[in-house]
Amino acid sequence: MTRRDILRLFSVTLLGCKAMGNTAAFAFSSSDIEKTRFEFAKGSSVMMGNVSVSITAVTQDRQRAKQAIEAAFTKMKELERLLNFYDSRSEISQINAAAGQYPVAVSSEVMEVISQAMYVSRLTKGAFNLALGPTNTLWDFLKTQHVPSQAERVGLLPSTIFEHIVLDDVAQTVFLTKPKMRIDCGGIGKGFMAEKAKHVLMTYGVSAGIIAAAGDVLLFGNKPNGQGWRVGIQHPRNPDEHIASLDLTDTVVSTSGDYERFFMKDGIMYHHLLDPTTLLPARACQSVTVIGVRGALTDALATGVFVMGPEEGLKLLANASLGEAVIVDERGRTSISPTLEDRVRFL
Ligand code: AMP
Ligand code: MG
Repeated sequence: MTRRDILRLFSVTLLGCKAMGNTAAFAFSSSDIEKTRFEFAKGSSVMMGNVSVSITAVTQDRQRAKQAIEAAFTKMKELERLLNFYDSRSEISQINAAAGQYPVAVSSEVMEVISQAMYVSRLTKGAFNLALGPTNTLWDFLKTQHVPSQAERVGLLPSTIFEHIVLDDVAQTVFLTKPKMRIDCGGIGKGFMAEKAKHVLMTYGVSAGIIAAAGDVLLFGNKPNGQGWRVGIQHPRNPDEHIASLDLTDTVVSTSGDYERFFMKDGIMYHHLLDPTTLLPARACQSVTVIGVRGALTDALATGVFVMGPEEGLKLLANASLGEAVIVDERGRTSISPTLEDRVRFL
């Protein structure tokens, strides 16, 4: 691979991130590239309807890295088949179809992601709520984009109580105890899948790389020059601009932003991150980026902290020692975890 090829690869990474509306993008300097005798292999795919996923692996053996990336995508697609809310054959749909009737036996990975989603649901006191599945039909952000009436929202609230989800770890079953309940892993699945994809890459001997699934970006190992990866946090109102950057490794960076999925009606922006107490879009933030080590947790926490707002959200993260955050509130003001103060560069 020539230096020009490597430069092209990086520019694709950058453009790819922007095209996806990603919150995190990567900055590489050409001097990083010149110094390396390693290579980078890269693959990309579209999953979960419209989520662009890209995998980059640092390697000395390009063929092996390509195999690793292929195997990582196969793993992610397998997980997508299990978790997809909109696929009637997925295990999530089977759980949902049996709501109010019987517990459903699931695979260990589905049990794992649901257990973690329940943990974050409890930790955030329901700001992250695994049981918001019925709102997918109510709002239909992907198609009809309906603004539900108060009566419709209030009518649905009793079917969105996550405490009514019963897990049996021994029998490995999930039971939704009320007939209209539905669970949706949309707020946790991308981070979970990125973690599992990393494990696959590592079994192939890949020691460093990036897995980017829309707003969830997992970084591991170091760049060939020994440094960590530089991550930029997207400006929530200007996709071409970054508000800050950080050098990180062995970390997952998850961003939930109101700009990721929304529609406008009568001059009002209706986005997909819902306050579970009202089933209306949460209004305290424009974007929340959570930095931590477990992809499922950073993903779910970014969604939950978005609902909680900066003050309560930063407090929760600090108390639970589960991650750090960069938060842009509803008026565009940025607040960060105190532990990030000497590591974030504002741009
Ligand atoms: P993310 O891309 O991780 O920010 O997740 C967004 C997705 O999470 C939405 O498209 C919904 O499927 C789901 N979601 C929205 N609001 C919540 C919430 N308060 N708790 C859990 N999941 C949510
Ligand atoms: Mg999330």
